[in-house]
Amino acid sequence: MTPDPAAPLRALGRLVDAQGAADHDAAGAGASATGGPTSPSPQPLAMPGALPPEAPYEDEFDVADGSRIGFVHSTETTSGVNGPGLRYTVFLSGCGLRCLYCHNPDTQGMRLGERTSAKRVIEEAGRYLAFIRRHGGLTVTGGEPLLQAGFVEELFVGVQSEHGLHTTLDTSANNQQKASDRLLAHTDLVLLDIKAGNPELYERVSGGGRLADVMDLGARLMEHGVAVWVRFVLVPGLTDAPDHVAQVADLAAELGPIVERVEVLPYHRLGVQKYAALGRPYALEGTPTPTYEQVERSVAIFRERGLVALA
Ligand code: SF4
Repeated sequence: MTPDPAAPLRALGRLVDAQGAADHDAAGAGASATGGPTSPSPQPLAMPGALPPEAPYEDEFDVADGSRIGFVHSTETTSGVNGPGLRYTVFLSGCGLRCLYCHNPDTQGMRLGERTSAKRVIEEAGRYLAFIRRHGGLTVTGGEPLLQAGFVEELFVGVQSEHGLHTTLDTSANNQQKASDRLLAHTDLVLLDIKAGNPELYERVSGGGRLADVMDLGARLMEHGVAVWVRFVLVPGLTDAPDHVAQVADLAAELGPIVERVEVLPYHRLGVQKYAALGRPYALEGTPTPTYEQVERSVAIFRERGLVALA
């Protein structure tokens, strides 16, 4: 029998799920130790000024061109971020999480985005082929792209078959169960956020997310052989304790050789003004950015596990 390389990770995902449930139980009825929701399913925190709940995304098709409808916050060409080379980057609107450090709170409401069809985005990406085909490609980020997984699938299949483009999915793994095998088969690279290394802190940092979703998606990426760049945001006083960074590094190492690199992203405050403009409180007020030494210490913890890590 051929050994299943993702089996240990899948088992870890189940362990994480069970641990998460135990943590919820230990926190008692009504509220978790972190003040977050006690349901293990991803739910936005009921923050003052938070967006009202939206109807879930459902596949809908454009009457003119027959392709799927999606909600797009914005598009831009980027270089050196969001995947290798020069990228045509599509920011989808909508996210079920409410990360404490989110610097794009304006992308969290799905229907605040522009309603467009997959074919129109594929055509638009085609205008940049001279720049992005050889060393770059298409990146879909957000928000959380997997909230509109059917739309992303159609984009990736379209740009690969029509333009021969490299495809990158930037995801928190929230809604990972919506990602079809066909979508993963047409994904060349995943930028996978590991926001925390244990279920309780993960839920707190992400505003109700489940670490088990990250590990379950990781197991599927291993099965499909999809390359991964792990991303971890280093926040002083929240995620930077060496023991905690070691937990994240252990999870990244569990993904095995599909992990091409780990990016330690120093927390920054670039999105703070957006919260003021939206009339929402900023949860990390007063949190400093990490020092060079703090970042380097964290990078070293990943490297100790044989991972290629950079900041
Ligand atoms: S997953 Fe990304 S877009 Fe969603 S709340 Fe977190 S940081 Fe913001």
